[in-house]
Amino acid sequence: MNNATVGQNKNKEWVFVYYQICPKCNEPIIGIKVPKKREWYPSRFDTEGLVLLHK
Ligand SMILES: [Zn+2]
Repeated sequence: MNNATVGQNKNKEWVFVYYQICPKCNEPIIGIKVPKKREWYPSRFDTEGLVLLHK
């Protein structure tokens, strides 16, 4: 997936958005996550804990 920084939440944790077009139905898949590990920037392939919005 692709990812990007959204910003810091009220707990001062960095929030990231993950997104791609679904390969099966060609509709967008969008997810939000706060990485558990203190990585400088989370891998775009590490979707553990992702909260997905998908029709
Ligand atoms: Zn789909």
